[in-house]
Amino acid sequence: MSEISVLGIFVADISFSGNKIPSVGETILGDNYNIGPGGKGCNQAIAIARLGGKVNFISKIGKDNYGQLAINILNQNNIDTSTIIQSSDHQTGVAGIMIDKKTGKNAINVISGAPSTLTIDQINKNIDKIKNSKIFLTQLEIPKDVILHSLKTAKENKVLTILNPAPASEISKEFFNYIDYFTPNETEAEFYTGIKITNEKEAKEASIKLLNLGLKKVIITLGEKGLFYSDGNEDIYLKATSVKAIDTTGAGDAFNGGLAFALANNKSIKDALNLANQVAGLSTLKLGAGNAMPTQKDLR
Ligand code: ADP
Repeated sequence: MSEISVLGIFVADISFSGNKIPSVGETILGDNYNIGPGGKGCNQAIAIARLGGKVNFISKIGKDNYGQLAINILNQNNIDTSTIIQSSDHQTGVAGIMIDKKTGKNAINVISGAPSTLTIDQINKNIDKIKNSKIFLTQLEIPKDVILHSLKTAKENKVLTILNPAPASEISKEFFNYIDYFTPNETEAEFYTGIKITNEKEAKEASIKLLNLGLKKVIITLGEKGLFYSDGNEDIYLKATSVKAIDTTGAGDAFNGGLAFALANNKSIKDALNLANQVAGLSTLKLGAGNAMPTQKDLR
């Protein structure tokens, strides 16, 4: 089976649900709390593994309780953790999430911790994993020099690369030489193009601008409106699957995981987009991020 490498962060999502999000200085009695996997890289790796993909997760965590939790969760999901660096000098990432159970709205404070100290030297220890993979998938949650070095190495070794540019932040032009698939959501696409996207036509305009930057293939995810793909020759617009979404956290991660899995299995672009769209739609039916990822069984 072809292997997929995912570089990114794990954070323990600690969510508190109650009648409201407390205001500054206020204490409320909430209803329940949950601790589960989060961090875009981790969520995407879980999505791939649950679909049956062979995946290694390149990341950095602390030698603390949440670090152990990370290893347990990744192992339970059949993700190769030999590529994870555990540091006694840094903490594992955590996110404190306050949820208003009536509206589903949240307020989040993320401490990315150990992975923010990842270096090129550390990545080079696992560089063979990237070189020997079929697909390399990453996001913008770790230091930029590490991301660029990894994308470049992947491309030089003919590995197909996917950059999910999230959260949106400035990247140098050099990045664009090493990206096969660029997968922003509509807000991220707006960040890179200045075009506000509310429909297919605006998604097309934004994709033209992105392709002009030197990108080869662009997929703009449009939340409940679906997605738009363009490589400059072929355009594909897909409506989102019709589901009764209860929590869309991690939908973009499910999409990227589904896309990587499909491409690793030599699916055509149309089939890959269809699968990713379906995986992302299913992920909105459960609460949480990593824990909401569907399995191959759910797809039938
Ligand atoms: P992100 O989670 O990064 O903000 P999006 O909101 O664009 O990304 O969602 C990613 C994908 O998840 C969409 O392209 C779509 O396939 C799916 N999706 C998101 N929201 C819904 C929804 N309400 N119903 C069905 N599918 C959805």
